[in-house]
Amino acid sequence: MKYLKGIQASPGIAIAPVYLYDPEEFPVDQRRIDPSDIPVEKARLEEAIRAVSEDFAATRAHVEDILGKEHAQIFDAHLLILQDPMLLELTYPHIEKYNAEYAFWTTFQNLRRQFEAFQDDYLRERGADLLGIAKRVLAKLGNWEKVGLDRLPDKAIVVARDLMPDDMAHLQPDRVLGLVTEVGGSTSHAIILARGLEIPAVVSVANALSDARTGDIAIVDGRRGDFILNPDDKTLAQYRGLAERLRKRKAGLVDSRDLPAQTEDGVQVALQANVELPSEVHSAMDYGAEGVGLYRTEYLYLASDILPDEASQVTAYSQMARRIAPRPLVIRTLDLGGDKMSHVLNTQTEMNPFLGLRSIRLTLRHRDLFKVQLRAILKASAVGNVKLMLPLISGIDELREALAVLDDVREELTREGVPFDPQCPVGVMIEVPSAALIADQLAQEVDFFSIGTNDLIQYTLAVDRGNDLVSYLFEPFHPAVLRLIKCVVDAAHAENIPVTVCGEIAGDPHSGLLLVGMGVDKLSMTPSALPEVKRAIRNTSFKQLQALGEDVLNMQEIADIRVRVNATLSDDDDEMFIGGESGETTLQMRLSLF
Ligand code: PEP
Ligand code: MG
Repeated sequence: MKYLKGIQASPGIAIAPVYLYDPEEFPVDQRRIDPSDIPVEKARLEEAIRAVSEDFAATRAHVEDILGKEHAQIFDAHLLILQDPMLLELTYPHIEKYNAEYAFWTTFQNLRRQFEAFQDDYLRERGADLLGIAKRVLAKLGNWEKVGLDRLPDKAIVVARDLMPDDMAHLQPDRVLGLVTEVGGSTSHAIILARGLEIPAVVSVANALSDARTGDIAIVDGRRGDFILNPDDKTLAQYRGLAERLRKRKAGLVDSRDLPAQTEDGVQVALQANVELPSEVHSAMDYGAEGVGLYRTEYLYLASDILPDEASQVTAYSQMARRIAPRPLVIRTLDLGGDKMSHVLNTQTEMNPFLGLRSIRLTLRHRDLFKVQLRAILKASAVGNVKLMLPLISGIDELREALAVLDDVREELTREGVPFDPQCPVGVMIEVPSAALIADQLAQEVDFFSIGTNDLIQYTLAVDRGNDLVSYLFEPFHPAVLRLIKCVVDAAHAENIPVTVCGEIAGDPHSGLLLVGMGVDKLSMTPSALPEVKRAIRNTSFKQLQALGEDVLNMQEIADIRVRVNATLSDDDDEMFIGGESGETTLQMRLSLF
C-alpha cells in the first residue's frame, strides 16, 4: 500500500483499477514484410496520403468559410507537405523491409528531429504540426488504436500528467470513476468539468505516473487529496464504508431540492448551476437549481472535430432553454483560449495564453464566428428564458464593440423575420480587475453582472489558476479580491442590476455565505454543490451574514478572515468534506479546493 498526497480538486471517493493515460502515446505496429508485399504496402500508403489530403482540403474549405483565408492557410501548408513527392521517396526505402505504417513513422520521426533542431521557434512548432499529420496518415492506415478518455477499455481511475479541457470534452463519465494528475490546479477547466460530472479528483500528486501501474487497485479521496495505491483490506473496507455514507448523505441532501434557499430571517438567495455539457442540465435540475447561471458553450467546440454551425448551436441552446424554462439559461459566448484550445481553430501558440487572444478577444477577432453564435443564442431566446453573457470584458470600448456586433445581429434577424426575444438580457462577466474597477461604468450598459472569481483571483493576484507551483497563492479571501467583489456589488446595486458569482468559490458553503453577506444576489455553482450551499444558507440569518461581510472587509490577514468566516458554519456542516473520521481541522483543506 502506498499513500500519495496531492491537492483535493473534486470531492468524493473512487475505488477502481488505475489506467495510466498518456494523450501522446502512439504505438506503431512494426512488421517485417515479404518482398512480394512491397507493391501492396506502397499502394496502401499512397491511398492513405490521398485520403488525408482530401480531409485536409475539406477542413480547409470549412475553416475558410467561417474564419477566413488567413486561418485556412495552415491547411495549405499541411497539404504541401503531404503532397511533396519527397515524402514517398524518403519512405519507400523503409518499405523494402517493413510495413507501410512503420516505414512512414520512421520517415516522420527523422523529419521531426530535423525540425526540432531548428533555432527558430516557428520552425520548431512546425515539427509539432508534422506529428499531427503523421497521426492522421497512420489512422487512415488503420494503425491508430489510440485510447482516449472516450474509449477506456473498462471503468478506471485515470492517472495522467495533466488533463486538458479537450481530453475531458470526450470523456465517458460512466468509465472514468476518478482522476489523478501530477500537475494542474483545482480551478483548471478540466477539473471544473470533473466536478460538474461528479468525478472525484486529486491534482498535483508528485510521481503518480511512476508509482502507479495500469491495473493497480487504487482509492481517490477527493476530499482529502489522497491517492492510495494497492490499499490493504482494512483500508479498502474503511473507504467502502465511507463512500456508502457519503452517498447516503448526498441522497438526503438532494431531498431538500424543493426547499427555498432562504435564510432564517427570510432573505432568498437564487442558487443556480454552472454547466459545461448539456447532459449536466439533468443533474442541475435534480439538485434543485433555479436555472443555469453559466453555460460554458466552448465545450460544444472542444467536443467536436469541426466548428459547430449555426443550426447545431440553435438546436443545443434551444433544447437546453426548453428543458429549463421558465427558469433562466445564461449562455456565455465562447471562452476559448487560455487552457481551452480548439484544434479546429488552429489558434497560434502564445507565450502567455491566459493573457493573450482569449475569450471575447478571440471572438471579436473572428467576427463571423461570433455572429454565428450570437444568431444561435438569439434564436434560442424565442423558446425559453435565455440571457446572453459576455466573458472576460476588460474595458468599456471592448464591451461597446461586442454590443455593436450584437446590434448588427439583431437587425439581421429582424430583417430576415426570424423570431427572437428583443429584450433578451445581456450581461458581462467581471473577471479582470480593470472591469471590477470600472464596474460603475459597465453597469450602465448591461442588464446584469456575473463575477468570474476563478479568473478574477488569477488576474488580481497574478497566479496562474492551473499552475500547482503557485496554487498556495490562489487565495479567494485575499483582501484585494474581497474589495474588488465589494466594488462590483456596490456598482451593480447603484444601477439596480443583479450580481451573480459563478466562480468556484460560489459552491463552497463558507465562501458562498460570505458572498451573500457581501450583497451578492445569486450564486451559480457546479450542480452537486447546490444542496450543501442551500443547507448553509437555511441555517444562518442574513443579519449575521451582513455582519460577516462588513467585518471581513476591515481585516488585513487572510488567516483572521478564515477564522471569522469559519465561525459562521456549524461543525456539523463540515462532514461532507472530511467525512468526520479524523480530528484534522478542515478549513484549510476545504479552502485549498479553490
Ligand atoms: C471564472 O473565471 O470564474 C468563470 C466562471 O469562468 P471560467 O472558469 O470558465 O474561466
Ligand atoms: Mg473565467
